Amino acid sequence: MIKLTGITKSFDRLEVLKGIDLTVKKGEVVAILGPSGSGKTTLLRCINYLEKPNEGEIKIGDFSLNCKRPSKKDIHALRQKSAMVFQQYNLFKNKNAIENVMEGLIIAHKMPKEEARKRSAALLEKVGLAHKLDAYPSQLSGGQQQRVGIARALALNPDVILFDEPTSALDPELVGEVLGVIRQIAKEGITMIIVTHEMSFAREVANHVVFMDQGVIVEEGNPSELFNNPKEERTRQFLKRIK
Ligand code: ADP
Repeated sequence: MIKLTGITKSFDRLEVLKGIDLTVKKGEVVAILGPSGSGKTTLLRCINYLEKPNEGEIKIGDFSLNCKRPSKKDIHALRQKSAMVFQQYNLFKNKNAIENVMEGLIIAHKMPKEEARKRSAALLEKVGLAHKLDAYPSQLSGGQQQRVGIARALALNPDVILFDEPTSALDPELVGEVLGVIRQIAKEGITMIIVTHEMSFAREVANHVVFMDQGVIVEEGNPSELFNNPKEERTRQFLKRIK
């Protein structure tokens, strides 16, 4: 379904990704863990070209893109295959909840406005916001804003949803409602890659866990294997520190 091969990325002289290979199967929920600064967010952003990798290949479904010399058309095609849920929600402040969800459908998918409105209302209902369609981001809690962000990602019907630390900006009492929504959509078989610090959530929801450190994948495996019986010393140290 998704195959990353040899992805590298530097910011000036700082080598942030040092050759990442990762395969994600259709319907799989992959959690990416690792210390701050290890390159998790950069990797996620490379998958939909918010960051341009220096080298490597990104394959989603039967579409593949060589990062060395991609055409604008290929970058556009790649971006259509994934949707990102951001740490800071990134909603349009001057649009209400339903307009935020509709925007991508009208602009990127050229969907007629009324159809986009119907689909967006249904998705906002799904994330528990049927009563907030007309509310602006400033009138919503962080947890509600993030649920709009998730509805917006779902609306695009992407091959994969990329979650970049979706709960890290939230007050602790709001984390649960957002994780609850992610848990619910994971059950529907949508392919997801989640960068998270929520270990118990990763353990419960992910089918596959990836541990990154200093720009490389140190270890990956199924959650019980990786959490209970990590093979690498760096993984052990990390898990010990955050317990
Ligand atoms: P993580 O998500 O694991 O915390 P990041 O991918 O955010 O790690 O960052 C990895 C490294 O890349 C860090 O040292 C960070 O400072 C650096 N970095 C990230 N984005 C940029 C950028 N736009 N410009 C320069 N350095 C960056």
